[in-house]
Amino acid sequence: MTRVFVTRELPGGAGDGSPIARLREALGAENVDVWPEFDPPSREAFLERTEGCDGVLCMITDRIDTEFLEARPSVRAVAQLAVGYDNIDVPACTAHGVAVTNTPDVLSDATADMAWALLMAAARRLPAGRDAIEQGQWGQWNPTWMLSSEITGRTLGILGPGRIGAAAARRASGFDMTVLYTGHSEKPDFPGTFVSLDELLERSDFISVHVPLNDETRGMCDASFFRRMRRHAIFVNTSRGPVVDQPALIAALEDGTIAAAGLDVMTPEPLPPDDPLVRAKNIVLSPHVGSATLETRTKMAHLAVDGLLAGMRGETVRHLVNPEALNAASRR
Ligand code: NAP
Repeated sequence: MTRVFVTRELPGGAGDGSPIARLREALGAENVDVWPEFDPPSREAFLERTEGCDGVLCMITDRIDTEFLEARPSVRAVAQLAVGYDNIDVPACTAHGVAVTNTPDVLSDATADMAWALLMAAARRLPAGRDAIEQGQWGQWNPTWMLSSEITGRTLGILGPGRIGAAAARRASGFDMTVLYTGHSEKPDFPGTFVSLDELLERSDFISVHVPLNDETRGMCDASFFRRMRRHAIFVNTSRGPVVDQPALIAALEDGTIAAAGLDVMTPEPLPPDDPLVRAKNIVLSPHVGSATLETRTKMAHLAVDGLLAGMRGETVRHLVNPEALNAASRR
């Protein structure tokens, strides 16, 4: 008997062929325990519900660390419903022979769309326009009122030329933009020109961040980063909140070091409504919903189910994050 814990209800419904139905069919409905609440399980509830489980289908809100792995030695696979897995201690999972899978590619377009939604909303001042209407400040048409930034023909800088960065860069061709990118290495198939970080910051009118969160990227968008950007430039982040030094971003917006920002991710999440970020000048915020289209979330859930089933069987799948875990597992 193989038992799993799913830490939230999955998108895609529960009908035939849905992600959760596939899991129930594969393992038997009685062996699939789904956390029924909107908010994630507490640590205590997570540990309690994973007792005796072989696999966990988890989210970015669930911490998978050594404490968990030692407490639940029966777990053989952890399937993350996201591409980023900074909530999971992957080396510890590998050492314990636990396969980790994620959901790459299927969410790249939706997340790149969100980066562009934020870029365009920040450039064309959509929140300010709405505020003006709501507050009765919309007077007669005036040629100097609510002026904003042109997008067409300008320069987009991509920080993190991976799957989502490439999708965001491809969208720029419709706006006749020059695309620059920086990362660890030049990518032959990336639609843009490889430059240093300094050159990216100095030349870009828009900067869109697509790096994973890790020790190298934590806090990399700091005061010095914003100082090196152009004064009219717009900063967009759909990666992870802690990549940005948030007080430094707020200061850069307030004192005009940069023109505007659009963020889908921030620190903390959820952001309290009275956080200084909410009141910052020229900012557009969305509540970490980059991949949140019904179609994309359903594809992510299918991929997570595939990963969980394969991981528990000790099989390799394309989205297995730590193939070395399978060797360690065979020695268990
Ligand atoms: P990916 O394909 O792995 O791309 C990440 C890119 O960043 C890679 O090209 C990587 O280069 C580069 N990179 C890593 N460290 C860097 C650094 N210090 N400076 C410059 N570039 C660096 O991942 P992805 O699928 O595009 O996803 C990217 C991230 O987006 C995820 O990790 C996740 O945190 C975030 N995300 C957010 C949402 C949302 O809802 N807002 C949705 C999906 C994903 P190398 O490969 O050479 O290391």
